[in-house]
Amino acid sequence: MACVSFPYDAPVSQTLFDRASLVTPGGVNSPVRAFRAVGGTPRFMVSGSGPYLTDADGREYVDLVCSWGPMILGHSHPEVIAAVQEAVARGTSFGTPGEGEVALAEEIVARVEPVEQVRLVSSGTEATMSAIRLARGFTGRAKVVKFAGCYHGHVDALLAAAGSGVATFGLPDTPGVTGAQAGDTIVLPYNDLDAVREAFTAHPGEIACVITEASPGNMGVVPPLDGFNAGLKELCAANGALYISDEVMTGFRTSKAGWFGVDGVRPDLMTFGKVMGGGFPAAAFGGRADVMAHLAPAGPVYQAGTLSGNPVATAAGLAQLRLLDDAAYAKVDAVSAQIRGLASEALAKEGVAHTVQAASNMFSVFFTDRPVRNYEDAKQQEAFRFTAFFHSLLSQGVYLPPSAFESWFVSTAHDTQAVERIAAALPAAARAASEATA
Ligand code: PLP
Repeated sequence: MACVSFPYDAPVSQTLFDRASLVTPGGVNSPVRAFRAVGGTPRFMVSGSGPYLTDADGREYVDLVCSWGPMILGHSHPEVIAAVQEAVARGTSFGTPGEGEVALAEEIVARVEPVEQVRLVSSGTEATMSAIRLARGFTGRAKVVKFAGCYHGHVDALLAAAGSGVATFGLPDTPGVTGAQAGDTIVLPYNDLDAVREAFTAHPGEIACVITEASPGNMGVVPPLDGFNAGLKELCAANGALYISDEVMTGFRTSKAGWFGVDGVRPDLMTFGKVMGGGFPAAAFGGRADVMAHLAPAGPVYQAGTLSGNPVATAAGLAQLRLLDDAAYAKVDAVSAQIRGLASEALAKEGVAHTVQAASNMFSVFFTDRPVRNYEDAKQQEAFRFTAFFHSLLSQGVYLPPSAFESWFVSTAHDTQAVERIAAALPAAARAASEATA
């Protein structure tokens, strides 16, 4: 890791992190929160309002993580909070069907045309896991194609993923995932239709589905090349496999109908999470009615959840989705373009090689001057420069994702004042990036 000094401290966060580390592995409940890629003390946040987060030491940050995507209206949006309070007052979980989940399902079906039926779950991981089980149950086939650098949650079979040579052979990427669990997973380079064609030729009648991030954000933002998603759809259709578009990150963020609203390629199944939960654990998978009809209790493929369609989560999600009209997306897209421009300008002024890539309002800055088309390209960047850039921004009150391989997220609440704060912090951060050494 680069030699970065931390010109500021966070004593209360540090004390909390020390306490957390005693009772929780690594001190966090999701690995990337631990700042391992960038070093330093993870900030323990105590509140959020609009585009700002406040940490336990009382410092305020412009938030460019937005809870990894969900908070597209900013933090503590009054109408979302009111919907949650109203729902909570009626009770927190019934374990029965409820009207809120019907309304949320109707909203999803109305927005995303290929979704004829939808099943609600509690996390994106559950959504992709269930979609893959359904694809296998529907086709009677075992194999799954996924792409290196695409993340679909911590589903065992989908963790054979990180683009290493062994992953190509479906060997486990993490201890605890057995060869049997990962053995039916075929990992291919992203944006490479020839590789997909060859996989179908090598495994005739064996591939149940191809799963892809609709537009990947988990190796940094690497949009599909023109025709890539359409080519996947065609190859799946020609070979009797299902095309699964994972829109957990892009869904209801990159447009009203997510990435489907951008490229119009019609998946057989889709997965959703993040924005549709309004900051609560709500996710979903859905698609063709004839495929969804195979799901229990209508059909034989089992899938269930104690808290699926939870009334508080569905109230939050529904309130958020109903506020996301064309004007809201125009606002998020515009502020994203503005921040991208500012970051690029500051880095160019300091002579730092970089490439800014965007998919609608999702974007990331790669520290390389070459276009990034897949995970191998993403790994060629000078990530040590990101570390210096990140810490400089953090010390000036701008909170980026603590990794060079993530999307940055903005919201409708990122106003002129928030953008000005980012603009003021960028020159020193760009200088720090230019002075960083590997
Ligand atoms: N799929 C994609 C594209 C994601 O980005 C994520 C999480 O970041 C997931 C699935 C898993 O979602 P969750 O973290 O809610 O399990």
